[in-house]
Amino acid sequence: MDYNRLAERLFPHITDSPEQIEQQYPKRDLPEGAKVTRMGPSPTGFMHLGNLYGALVDERLAHQSGGVFYLRIEDTDKKREVEGGVKTIIEAFSSFGLQFDEGATLDGERGVYGPYRQSQRAALYQCFVKSLVERGLAYPCFCTEDELSAAHAAQEANKENFGYYGKYAVWRDRTMEEIENELQKGTPYVIRFRSEGSIENKVKHEDLVKGKMEVTENDQDIVILKSDGIPTYHFAHVVDDHLMGTTVVVRGEEWLATLPVHLQLFRAMGWKAPKYAHTAQLMKIDPETGGKRKLSKRKDPELALDFYYREGYPVPAVMEYLMTLLNSNFEEWRRANPDVPMNDFPFSTKKMSGSGALFDIEKLKDVSKNVISRMSADTVYDYIAQWSADNDADFHQLLVRNPSFSKAYLAIGRGGKKPRKDLALWSDAKPYMDFMFDELFQPDYTLPEHVSAEDAKGILTAYAAQFDENDTPDGFFEKMKSIADQFGFASDTKVYKANPEAYKGAVGDISMVIRIAVAGRQNAPDLQTVMSILGRDRVLDRLNKCAAAL
Ligand code: GLU
Repeated sequence: MDYNRLAERLFPHITDSPEQIEQQYPKRDLPEGAKVTRMGPSPTGFMHLGNLYGALVDERLAHQSGGVFYLRIEDTDKKREVEGGVKTIIEAFSSFGLQFDEGATLDGERGVYGPYRQSQRAALYQCFVKSLVERGLAYPCFCTEDELSAAHAAQEANKENFGYYGKYAVWRDRTMEEIENELQKGTPYVIRFRSEGSIENKVKHEDLVKGKMEVTENDQDIVILKSDGIPTYHFAHVVDDHLMGTTVVVRGEEWLATLPVHLQLFRAMGWKAPKYAHTAQLMKIDPETGGKRKLSKRKDPELALDFYYREGYPVPAVMEYLMTLLNSNFEEWRRANPDVPMNDFPFSTKKMSGSGALFDIEKLKDVSKNVISRMSADTVYDYIAQWSADNDADFHQLLVRNPSFSKAYLAIGRGGKKPRKDLALWSDAKPYMDFMFDELFQPDYTLPEHVSAEDAKGILTAYAAQFDENDTPDGFFEKMKSIADQFGFASDTKVYKANPEAYKGAVGDISMVIRIAVAGRQNAPDLQTVMSILGRDRVLDRLNKCAAAL
């Protein structure tokens, strides 16, 4: 067989040589040890937590080492592609604060290792396929779907391995005449790689996550170029990650099965394979069965990335939580370093677990409470304002009408060793602060059980008469004590507990009445501060309204 003639017959339009292409992709000039990583999502319109999980590994590996993190759009499967899919990808990553150094952008691309959309690289892949054909390492296969199904059925009947290998690789050694004959007829064909591997052989692989392993050599003549001239994932991965200088490929463990194919292709091309980090699946405890299972697109809304934005999960909390799943020592580090940026944590693939990571949304909420409790009031305000702008326009209006009023409230209980942890989601902000806005104030005037309506009215009137918005919390408490004495309540809780029959209740009941009037509920942050933010007129108005309603 004259392979050069075959190559020329199949790819007359390809005139560049592999060497010419290699020259267009010079070796990257990076510091020693710098890692080059990439995200290679397909524009299916659905971005899931697994994408973000992997992207965080990529981003950390690259940026921690002074390397490059780039975005390549893997759009070789036109059937799965949806309109706007690329936009969804780019916006999703950027909304989680992951910045690509190069690659596809909304309006084009950035960087000199492109094109970064695989659909624009057809000629380039074909050039390398042509060189494989010239070397007798690839050939056209004209099998129809029916023929392949018949082979599959025969393999099933004979209890043989499935696939295109051995005697089933029917186009492997055809003559030029037979090939020419099909080409003349216009029969569609794919290009297959000629595998010299055997399933009797093992290949050693050292995975950055899974550790040392042995994988079975590939004996299948896999498709590298589809009938439309577009490569399969396997071939595109090898060519792109070589040319673009990727040093670590981070991808889901579902790709481990075809790793032997990839290693074999790298060898056939004469290229050094990158390092691989195959990440474990995200699992959850099924609420119905109590068993562990993979997160499912159909059953688990939390698998979709847009869920987190809609529900108001803070971006830094999601990222911190993913980091706790990725690196077993992150939580300990965070406890020791509560105030430093997450990116100061020395991330390492060595601390990644090879088995499934258990995703627990309640744990995420706990992380989120901690993360929010460490933010400044200004930052919390900015996040809530942004979230409400997209999700609750009326609340947004109230919030931004008077930013310093909103921020003063959000500042209560912030800072110090034990900050308040009222918020886990930005959507918690409204129920936490609605009573501060007259428009949302819907008081529940249910009184503590020891307090009669008549006493409550008296307490409110007595307090209104001595209200001072500039009281200190201690000054406020003194007033509560004196009102307690006045109405037959114990001014000292200990005294009350020792002799409850002697009193109607204790000083806590007095402040509860005031809280119910001012905040319209039994739980609210520091009352004196709340009242000083609300201002004299509003407080007096609320005290009066409550007294009148009782
Ligand atoms: N396009 C592949 C996917 O969406 C990417 C796998 C990889 O990163 O190599 O799963």
